[in-house]
Amino acid sequence: MDFNLFNTLVWVWIGIGLATFTYLLWSGTRAPYGRHTSENWGKTMDNKWGWFVMELPALIVFPTLVLFGPREMGNLSLILLVMWTLHYFNRAIIFPLRIRTRGKKIPLTIVLSAFIFNVINGFINGYWLGYLAPLDHPFFSSSVLVGLIIYTMGFILNQVSDHQLIGLRKKHTGYSIPKGGMFNYVSCPNHLGEIMEWIGFAVVAWSLPALSFALWTIFNLVPRAKNHHEWYLENFKDYPKNRKAVIPGLF
Ligand code: NDP
Repeated sequence: MDFNLFNTLVWVWIGIGLATFTYLLWSGTRAPYGRHTSENWGKTMDNKWGWFVMELPALIVFPTLVLFGPREMGNLSLILLVMWTLHYFNRAIIFPLRIRTRGKKIPLTIVLSAFIFNVINGFINGYWLGYLAPLDHPFFSSSVLVGLIIYTMGFILNQVSDHQLIGLRKKHTGYSIPKGGMFNYVSCPNHLGEIMEWIGFAVVAWSLPALSFALWTIFNLVPRAKNHHEWYLENFKDYPKNRKAVIPGLF
């Protein structure tokens, strides 16, 4: 595909993300999975299998294009491949095995839309690195270092917070108020961690496709964190009032 056409398509993709973000934020629509799951969204499937199916394309499409595309891999492509695969191996394989959601369902509409998102996002980023990108910029540049630090902090925050949330069901099966660590400041530190991960990835990659992914992560997760935060306030009278949704002290 021609470079200019590719860039135009990525800008269109960012525009679609912005429209989705605006709609989700202002309409208050709660994506119906996890605590917001609903039977009004048609056919459903097992929640764990749903996570596996919807995240699997990301684990396959990006690495395939990067590894088998005509562009020779440099150190930078390699580190981006490691960052991507680390995240998606967890999200597609480990996370579904760990969550305690036995008997829970997820609407097929959600699985299908996330599947399509992951195909497009994996394609955009993989095609760029495997087929179009100019030669790697110097590996030991300050932007790579800064990006790696942001990604690593985000990855740890996402892992630790997901671990804390999953651990809440050791004692009882319903929902309870998460406490400790970054939960003292925000309702969704796992979402904050994930946003940091892909901002870090974009800083390392320094490309339009990686920027589009960081923006889409914000477009998806800021409304979801707002929904979770409001849900906690609706369901727990003693929910800490000083907590924000996803950005400490701000939002
Ligand atoms: P949540 O953060 O709501 O929950 C994670 C797990 O913990 C689920 O199994 C959930 O169960 C359980 N859980 C959450 N809160 C509680 C509680 N208070 N008490 C007991 N159990 C709880 O899941 P999300 O679906 O919002 O996100 C999961 C992961 O996926 C996150 O790491 C997020 O960053 C990532 N994600 C990324 C997206 C992207 O666009 N990149 C989009 C969406 C998610 P249950 O499912 O039953 O609620």
